[in-house]
Amino acid sequence: MSVLKWLSVVIALLSAVVVTGLLLLTTGRAGTPIAVGYPTIALIAAGLGLLPGIVLWLVAASYEAELRRTITCTEALEEDGPPQLFRSCFGFGPLLEAHQRTVETLGSRLKRMADQRLDLEVELRVAEGRRQHLEAILNSISDAVIVTDAFNEAVLANEAAAHLLQFDLDPALRQPIEHIVADPTLVKLIKDTRESSYAGSRGRRRHIEHRMGCNGRVTVYDVTLTCVASSPTGANTNRADGSGPFLDVGAGVITILRDITREKEIAEMKSEFVSSVSHELRTPLASIKAYMEMLIDGEAADEQTQAEFYHIIQAETTRLSRLIDNILNLSRIESGVVRVQRKQIALAPVVKEAVDIMQPQGRAKQITLEERPCLAAVQVLADRDMILQVLLNLMGNAVKYTRAGGHITVVLSADENERLARIAVIDTGVGVPQPDLPHLFEKFYRVVSHRKLAEGTGLGLNLVKHVVESVHGGSVSVTSEIGKGSAFTFALPMAENG
Ligand code: ADP
Repeated sequence: MSVLKWLSVVIALLSAVVVTGLLLLTTGRAGTPIAVGYPTIALIAAGLGLLPGIVLWLVAASYEAELRRTITCTEALEEDGPPQLFRSCFGFGPLLEAHQRTVETLGSRLKRMADQRLDLEVELRVAEGRRQHLEAILNSISDAVIVTDAFNEAVLANEAAAHLLQFDLDPALRQPIEHIVADPTLVKLIKDTRESSYAGSRGRRRHIEHRMGCNGRVTVYDVTLTCVASSPTGANTNRADGSGPFLDVGAGVITILRDITREKEIAEMKSEFVSSVSHELRTPLASIKAYMEMLIDGEAADEQTQAEFYHIIQAETTRLSRLIDNILNLSRIESGVVRVQRKQIALAPVVKEAVDIMQPQGRAKQITLEERPCLAAVQVLADRDMILQVLLNLMGNAVKYTRAGGHITVVLSADENERLARIAVIDTGVGVPQPDLPHLFEKFYRVVSHRKLAEGTGLGLNLVKHVVESVHGGSVSVTSEIGKGSAFTFALPMAENG
């Protein structure tokens, strides 16, 4: 029961007591005869006294009813929309209307906020998608990329950078560059580039060749440093009072490290190759020219000397044409325009021919050349000239890298199980250091310590590999021991009925 109702009960009781008391007092004092007894008077008086209480009770009840209805309507506002307005004696109608307006305003505000939230969620998803896309692009780049901001902190980096500079990608972000890059020169380069942006070099690219030691090996990098605005607010802005530019803290640096070690090596090899080739071409040419002039001038008086001169000229011409053949065949195979005349051939005669061709060179260096033919007739499906050139290259090398008194053996064998014909050129020469072995068949590759021993181009073995593997589907291999000699072997698939 509400306070109002309690109040009405109290008022009813009080007023009943007061009215009854007053009536009894006045009747008794006047001494007027009364037609009715005291109890009746008391009842009437109590009834009259109760009247205000009852009225107040009724008002309180109706007030409470309206209040409850207003509360119910207010509660229903959000779900059911506009309320059912009712006539209120206590002014709840306008209150309900005010509630309705407030709810409507709040509702539209909430709707706007929900829409904005939805937009933001979409934008967030798009931004996340873009970030992942950018990350995927960055990580697909094999060059190391690292982006630093105006405070020289790393803000972006790819996996190649993490691998090269040996840091963990996620924890490295927002770290000062000197904490994640151990190379002080690189750190200085990045910082200098950022500072140079104040001198107006923003957007300009710097290329620097930088060497870094990694796993005991020096690697050469082409470092590209570009100074960019790291945020849209980073651009020079004038103060509102026109007092000049703010301190420009917005410049960041994009650093890209590209491994150019191999490129440098190849460039070096190429220039060495050009000088070797010119030397290789010039030496036999000079010799041919000299002997021809002597013959023309009649300096070779007797027939024996003349024959000797002709032999020298022939040998030098063969050497010259072999070099030119090597260069041409290699470029033809590489460009895919080589014409292969594949026929079923017996290998033993090719080996014999190669040994015969190389005998004079061997004799000149006091090296004995020997062939060990296979008992079975070994036949392959191959281009005879190309296989001869492979043999001449291997044997030419064996002669070049074997000292006087050495021995060269060419062994032909057949592996019936694997249906492979094998030819091994075994020498007792200087041998190849173990670290060089995996690179011997690379183009322009020459063992450094062998350069003093003989002139060369680094093309011969590369051509051997191309002819055997790419053209004939065979394989090449080498074993070697320093000071003891080398064995270069190539295997070719045997012909079906070979
Ligand atoms: P080059 O013209 O220099 O001989 P090759 O491609 O034929 O070029 O050989 C590459 C390198 O392999 C040579 O420079 C040499 O160092 C090494 N090499 C090749 N054959 C032998 C061998 N029989 N013994 C020792 N080293 C060899």
